[in-house]
Amino acid sequence: MSSDFANLPLRDDLRGETPYGAPQLDIPVCLNVNENPYAPPKSVADAIAKRAGAAALKLNRYPDREHVALRDALAGYINAETDAGIKREQVWAANGSNEIMLQLFQAFGGPGKTALGFSPTYSMYPEYARDTFTKWKTVSRREDFTIDTDSAVEEIRRIGPSVVMIANPNNPTGTYIENDDLRVLLDVCKEVRVKNAPESARPVVVVDEAYAEFRTPGLESAISLIGEYPNLAVSRTMSKAFAFAGTRLGYLIGNENVVNALRIVRLPYHLSALTQAASLAALEHSGELLAQVSHLRETRDKTEKWFKTLQYCGRPIKNAESESNFIMFGVFTDRDFIFDELKKRGVLIRAVGPEGYLRVCMGTDEEMRIFREKFAEVLQLANERDGK
Ligand SMILES: *Cc1c(COP(=O)(O)O)cnc(C)c1O
Repeated sequence: MSSDFANLPLRDDLRGETPYGAPQLDIPVCLNVNENPYAPPKSVADAIAKRAGAAALKLNRYPDREHVALRDALAGYINAETDAGIKREQVWAANGSNEIMLQLFQAFGGPGKTALGFSPTYSMYPEYARDTFTKWKTVSRREDFTIDTDSAVEEIRRIGPSVVMIANPNNPTGTYIENDDLRVLLDVCKEVRVKNAPESARPVVVVDEAYAEFRTPGLESAISLIGEYPNLAVSRTMSKAFAFAGTRLGYLIGNENVVNALRIVRLPYHLSALTQAASLAALEHSGELLAQVSHLRETRDKTEKWFKTLQYCGRPIKNAESESNFIMFGVFTDRDFIFDELKKRGVLIRAVGPEGYLRVCMGTDEEMRIFREKFAEVLQLANERDGK
């Protein structure tokens, strides 16, 4: 896509930038954007249609700006999982967790402020920073993609960030960070002064739990730490495990003061009545929508094992340990070759992450069968090409 902005007063820092996003192509097997491959059952689709139909009769009016019923339902969903006793005042929803996180940057970032992340990580974080004139800095993860808490603490002390972004499980690596390690970062953030902010201000720590439902049962969520850490904000979404990406519903769980700050920057009536209605219906049927999650987890574990049986240029294929519904694997001399050859065979994955790595998300059993078959073919080609 080439655009000519010569006659437009486009911001200097946006010149040369391109829109973010994985290609949306009409390809038989799409394993590139980490969706749940199982569509909602007809019974749930009917329930959504019924709620949306009732809302349609009132579309001459603006929606509930405070989306109270939806926040109550989201609190109910979270409390069934964590017994954190989350109240409506601690919940805030928006059009995808991308909007939640942009609102966090709008409220807590800005000129003179710095946001800190742990690379490789979600490629939208630097874009929220760019769009809000916030400086973006990263600390590199260890070789196994876990967070080195010592260097993280050092960097937080040195920078005085206003926002710390931690994706858990991380995208694109799938890496999980334990609450004990999170506490180390949360504790230092309780002490550190934020640069260019009032003396009493402390960093906001955002834990992005977009893939939380896919983690192995027993692994904790940061939501259980909210009572202890007032500046902790946990971002969740219905786009991934919930099989609801088309609706665009993300939400935040945090302290009431954090929610009140987002209220200042949100657009008027940002969450449409149809979004609220559909999401309420989905939450009433969460069991059915989440029914395939444990199966997808098993698919992930099996696929990780399968990768370990494969060889590239005489070495086993490496994959990052994933607690999510995708696996990052490599390391290939020319990842684009593998990506393109798979695409030619009707399988779309993602060339993302450190050089040489690819990412595949878990599809249906049939999609995974096709992926394995085509990948084995392509791997043979790559071995002939790159191996000596
Ligand atoms: C997919 C994803 C999201 C979800 O975005 P939505 O706007 O809720 O669809 C958030 N964070 C990460 C790390 C993701 O991979």
